[in-house]
Amino acid sequence: MAQQTIPPHVLIFPFPVQGHVTTMLKLSELFCLAGIHVTYLISTQNYTRLVRCTNVLSRLSPYPGFRFQVLPESVSDGNAQSMDLVMNLFESLKTAKTFFKDLLIGEAQKPVTCIISDGLMSFTLDLGEEIGIPIIYFRTISSCSFWAYFCMPKLVEAGELPLKGDDMDVLIKNVPGMECFLRQRDLPSLCRVSDLNNSTFTMISSETHQTVRARALILNTFEDLEGPILSQIRTEFPNTYTIGPLHAHLKARLDGKTASQLASSNSLWEEDKSCIKWLDNQPLKSVVYVSFGSIAMVTREQLVEFWHGLVNSGIRFLWVIRPDSVTDEEMGSEIQAELEKATKARGYMVEWAPQEAVLAHQAVGGFLTHSGWNSTLESIFEGVPMICWPYFADQQINSRFVGEVWKVGLDIKDTCDRVVIEKAVKDMMEVRKEEFVESADQIAKMARKSVGEGGSSYCNLNRLIEDIMLMT
Ligand code: UDP
Ligand code: UDP
Repeated sequence: MAQQTIPPHVLIFPFPVQGHVTTMLKLSELFCLAGIHVTYLISTQNYTRLVRCTNVLSRLSPYPGFRFQVLPESVSDGNAQSMDLVMNLFESLKTAKTFFKDLLIGEAQKPVTCIISDGLMSFTLDLGEEIGIPIIYFRTISSCSFWAYFCMPKLVEAGELPLKGDDMDVLIKNVPGMECFLRQRDLPSLCRVSDLNNSTFTMISSETHQTVRARALILNTFEDLEGPILSQIRTEFPNTYTIGPLHAHLKARLDGKTASQLASSNSLWEEDKSCIKWLDNQPLKSVVYVSFGSIAMVTREQLVEFWHGLVNSGIRFLWVIRPDSVTDEEMGSEIQAELEKATKARGYMVEWAPQEAVLAHQAVGGFLTHSGWNSTLESIFEGVPMICWPYFADQQINSRFVGEVWKVGLDIKDTCDRVVIEKAVKDMMEVRKEEFVESADQIAKMARKSVGEGGSSYCNLNRLIEDIMLMT
């Protein structure tokens, strides 16, 4: 009698914030499509929000091998609005260690055959090694920022960190592959501190180095976009799978009907779809979409500068202002109401947008973004040029690549001035429109190719799936 094969069972453990939860859920669904069983670890609060705001349960129900596993309440997941809060989240995740271990050894019926863990959670590596389960790391950031994080100790050794002097335009020499264009100001924002013994720097540096212990590394990018940097990364991590852009990869592998439901499916906030109707009434490529993602905060003054810059540009805009995103909270809602009133003629505001659908809309011609990696990839895929106003962490380096390497936008980093914003918007939407649209179109084509049958991300995902199948 033929022996029944047991499908591999992967435990997926994302860092509990929007960009990570969404991306790793997309990876989970890709695995389910391939017949792999998935247990997806999620915090209570994120689970509640996901179920409330999306159709995720009905969408995932066709996959009998998929299940959510809610983490203990001790794992807090309040909004991570600064690096400090991000650090608090990392700390609180460690409290899940015992729970995680019990989960790994308690699955007698369906043993876990592989763990896919968000980078920087090295306690998962400890447990994987202890119990003998292979661990694959998934970094949801860009390859260029991962590589810069990895090289931070080298920068310290070479005396390039702490940063020297006030001239932030000085080039950094010790991130291989970026010698000609990486400036002090482009390094991850945590490099801007003078005391490198601080806990954030030490933790990120040493945790990033732990990646060498993982069996493999998954990156949400594609070869044609970050090839030269990936060659550098592979000198340290030969087993690196690039399988992105994941949001598009999943759509490409689903049938049309399910794919059309996907655009609005993984948000932790309620999406205001009224903006799509508003976009329907705007001319082709006439609107600049403005959003700073799920974490970034702006001050009242910055908000006002953006508003003046946008209004003075004369260009139409769709602006996402999360209710919790203005640092001076009391002023936040007041100023938002005021802006909303004053904006009516040429603008539209929402608290949270169906971003993928917005970027895919024909009325959108540009994106004023904080350069979060997901937003960057979503924009790249739709061929939408960007104005980058990086907020923190990896965003500083993403914006340098957008402006200087891929040439699909302008990097206004470290400036929040109405005149600069007005000029950048006019440049992107009018003066230099053709140039940006042309390069954005070219890269978008490569992105599509990468997730289509036979493309690099498509083949790498198949290879990853085959490798996981062998881990049973
Ligand atoms: N997003 C969205 N609606 C919004 C703003 C953002 O759906 O109004 C989504 C966006 O599509 C992206 C994610 O939130 O997938 C933000 O991730 P990113 O890595 O860009 O930034 P982060 O929020 O991690 O800073
Ligand atoms: N940052 C920025 N624009 C802002 C706020 C912050 O470019 O409006 C950058 C800033 O350069 C800083 C980094 O983001 O180095 C981290 O900022 P944050 O206020 O989050 O500081 P932290 O919480 O890490 O001390």
